[in-house]
Amino acid sequence: MTDTPQTPDWLQSGYDRIWMPYTQMQTAPLPEAAVRTEGTRIHLSDGRELIDGVGSWWAACHGYNHPHIVEAIRDQASKLPHVMLAGLANEPAFTLAARLPEALGLPPYRAFFSESGSVSVEVALKIAAQYWHNKGETKRKKFLCFRGGYHGDTFATMSLCDPVDGFHAAFQGVVPGQLIADLPEDDTTEAALADLLDREAATLAAVIVEPLVQGAGGMLFHDGETLKRIRKLCDTHGLLLIFDEIFAGLGRLGGMLAGGLADVRPDILTLSKTLTGGTLPLSATLASEDVFQAFQSNRLEDCLMHGPTFTGNALACAAANASLDLFESEGRLAQVQALESAMLPTLEACRGMPGVQDVRGKGAIGVVQLDIGGFDELVWLRGRFVEEGVFIRPFTNIVYLTPAYNIAADDLARLTDAIIKIVPEWAAKFGKK
Ligand code: PMP
Repeated sequence: MTDTPQTPDWLQSGYDRIWMPYTQMQTAPLPEAAVRTEGTRIHLSDGRELIDGVGSWWAACHGYNHPHIVEAIRDQASKLPHVMLAGLANEPAFTLAARLPEALGLPPYRAFFSESGSVSVEVALKIAAQYWHNKGETKRKKFLCFRGGYHGDTFATMSLCDPVDGFHAAFQGVVPGQLIADLPEDDTTEAALADLLDREAATLAAVIVEPLVQGAGGMLFHDGETLKRIRKLCDTHGLLLIFDEIFAGLGRLGGMLAGGLADVRPDILTLSKTLTGGTLPLSATLASEDVFQAFQSNRLEDCLMHGPTFTGNALACAAANASLDLFESEGRLAQVQALESAMLPTLEACRGMPGVQDVRGKGAIGVVQLDIGGFDELVWLRGRFVEEGVFIRPFTNIVYLTPAYNIAADDLARLTDAIIKIVPEWAAKFGKK
């Protein structure tokens, strides 16, 4: 043992070869070396520990290494980690498909499994397009999405993201053009959307929206009425409605589905992130019985033409079943409500501070929006949070928390205290008024 902090051998040698996500690798600081996780703690190679405010891109909803999920993965790994899903069934995938609708408060929907959020949205788009094709309506090939939205990083999902956001601006013209509208949050925007649909509905396969909160677009919230207006317009124009619940679903807003909180049902929905409690890559695309029926025929070409290698992966589905257990056995939704009541009033302390534009949140999401002037300010904030012993990763113009639903009160207080302390430091350093 030495007193000097240890940098593990693999960090620099691997960094010289790995391509990190969303990272300008010429200027980015070396990432922190995480060697162990536990609950809401991330342990670093040099002995420091960080309280996690992000849940690893919003996925680790039960904290890390929950023993019930770890045990389920271990047990499944020793029995059957994976078999292909064509021609072979595995118990965790079939059990998950059977229990998901009831767990989500839905009537029977069909579940198609893939391995990332983006791919589950791709599958949703494919289902919607083929639904119309199978019904002989061959002109319905486009999709309508909303400003502020984000649905993934693959090419088709990129075409559904707000084109002016920083993620995909370089690819305008590369990805297919879709229709984009303002969310119908009031009568004026509803009328504008109705006009657009009057003109374009015959070319559209579906409308896609992140229900109640647009996450990567900047944690922008809208109300259930907005979803009701979208549902009504889809019904009037005979369009399928897709809810991308990858961020908002599975407890994040306090209900098993955001659509359920608003009492609005989509025709197709997508889940990922928290589906395995953030442990293994898995996503699900769920389709209503009506949508599924359009694929039933005696012609092979009417079937869903999709089949990724790892669809229905037994390890990931075992983790997802264990994650669903915890919502019941540990009362997760009640914990989200308690978290909301503790986190949001505390973050209100930031309102009125120099440089603070807004404080908002719902469920297990807390947001402080800042007058951020440039990327250097984000880098400074990220580093300063780590110095303070918390992992909080601001982006665009927000500092936010998406902690584990079961985070302990004192860990949550360390996260909110850090924000309340560091936002004024940022304001003073960068001259905010
Ligand atoms: N949809 C939404 C609403 C998301 O928040 C994300 C991920 N941030 C995705 C889709 C894409 O998921 P993935 O990163 O797993 O491909």
